[in-house]
Amino acid sequence: MKRSYTSRSVLTAAVLLSLLALSCGSGPRYVAPKDRVVVVISIDGLPGWEWKDPRLPVPNLWKLAREGVRASTMQVTNPAVTWPVHTSMITGVRSARHGVLFNGVPLRPGEKTPVGIKQWHDKEQLVLAPTAYDLLYDAGFTTAEVDWVAIHNARKITWRFPEIPNPEGAIEREMAAAGIISETDLREFFKSSPVWRDYYWTQAAVHILKRHKPNLLLFHLLNPDASNHRDGPRSWASRTAYAYADQCVAMVLETLRGAGLTDRATVVVLTDHGFKAAKRFIQPNAVLRRMGLLKTAGGKIDGDAYALSAGGSAMLYLTNPARKSELAARLSAEFRKMEGVGRVLTPDEFAAWDLPDPRTQERMADLVLYAKDGYAFTAAAEGADLAGPESGYPGHHGYPASDPDMDAAFLAWGYGIKAGAKLDRISHLDVGPTLTALFGVTMPNVEGRVLEEILVAEQVRAR
Ligand SMILES: [Zn+2]
Repeated sequence: MKRSYTSRSVLTAAVLLSLLALSCGSGPRYVAPKDRVVVVISIDGLPGWEWKDPRLPVPNLWKLAREGVRASTMQVTNPAVTWPVHTSMITGVRSARHGVLFNGVPLRPGEKTPVGIKQWHDKEQLVLAPTAYDLLYDAGFTTAEVDWVAIHNARKITWRFPEIPNPEGAIEREMAAAGIISETDLREFFKSSPVWRDYYWTQAAVHILKRHKPNLLLFHLLNPDASNHRDGPRSWASRTAYAYADQCVAMVLETLRGAGLTDRATVVVLTDHGFKAAKRFIQPNAVLRRMGLLKTAGGKIDGDAYALSAGGSAMLYLTNPARKSELAARLSAEFRKMEGVGRVLTPDEFAAWDLPDPRTQERMADLVLYAKDGYAFTAAAEGADLAGPESGYPGHHGYPASDPDMDAAFLAWGYGIKAGAKLDRISHLDVGPTLTALFGVTMPNVEGRVLEEILVAEQVRAR
């Protein structure tokens, strides 16, 4: 409001004071969308059920939950596998629509050859639905990612430090010049443990926040998932990995404080799936080999069927079109009677399981197998149909998303978040639309919803 100058200075001062009181006291503080910072931290593989333990060793996360909002748990959709789940969160739609079924894209090289997974497939071809960061970028916001998944060469990311850093990348060059990471460590990034990588990914998130202050930062920590696979959920290694991830979160919070961003920043900490322990291993490719449907010779595999295993589930591809219907029936029957197999899904059931129809989506398998509790699938084509603990890691995910053990976690804190709001079991499909809502942007055609009950409406409105 423009006011003309008046000599009645006392009255002017009184008006100014009352305006100041209005902006500071009675109404919530408002930050324009272009000045907001939303940091999303994904702690891979930290189960929702772990939060039932009040001594889960994550003091910084507990503090965020106390001062902000924590969902009692977060249900995921199928497949309960890292890249598909992250993509469901960031697109707000199920795999049937976004098309990400593995940690990469399944490639069908030809008839009678096994299906393989190409991990570093460009996001623009891999992800078939718009993401929250695509929409925010189009609305004029800046976006950044550190070790996020299913995001290779994404066009609408302003700053990036990818899972495998590029020594010639802009952020990598800035960090090397500032002495944060050496040229050798950038080149040999994967000659290290996931613990070391989580530290440097955190350093990258810290650097991007300090130097560039992006509107949206997507940041992913991997070590808890790696520890749960190798040592099993509920192990000391697993708990130590959570405690370390909590320290990485603390480094990000300290950066927000140091950069003077705390009053305009929202922090969302989420996880992608739970974990289960397994001691018995189903080897579907060994079953196919025994049935004469798959041959291994000199390290090469060919045949009429091939299974891609993902821990608690396996996707079975029938690679010989001439025998497809015959083998679908025969293999359904074979796997249904196998010890440890809980379910065999046929294509008419896929839609109810969030999965695409293989008749319209060639990435999709022809049958899906789910393991019972205590069992998991391996990729091995050699050996027995069933194997013991020596054949696989003790921890797995990829079980049916309806299993509460696969539930993930969600908490939100800071600008625009209604402290103390109650949030029961949410869907991970709610994440994307809620993230854009923090900027006053609507995500159309999603299957999740905006978590309106945790938002301070006056703060997140776009003015
Ligand atoms: Zn994961």
